[in-house]
Amino acid sequence: MAAAYTWAAANTRGVYARWSMRILFWLLLIVVVWAVLSARSRAKPSGSARPTPSRAVPMVACAYCQLHVPQNEAVDAGGRWYCCEEHKRLGAGR
Ligand SMILES: [Zn+2]
Repeated sequence: MAAAYTWAAANTRGVYARWSMRILFWLLLIVVVWAVLSARSRAKPSGSARPTPSRAVPMVACAYCQLHVPQNEAVDAGGRWYCCEEHKRLGAGR
């Protein structure tokens, strides 16, 4: 009776050990796969083209002809933008 009990206890312990090893293996595999996937997905947006706002010049529309020109090339007329001096003159005259 005692021998049978100890055999059963040892056997169950062995089964548990085998299952816990299997679970640990799968958990480790899942963690490794998750880490690789998250690292890859995190590296994608930072590595790809991100517009540099410091170098990008904002575009403004000419108040006369609606032509979009870079702000540093546009003619400022009190908050309104024109593509050239002539359109500034024509736009102010309207
Ligand atoms: Zn214009």
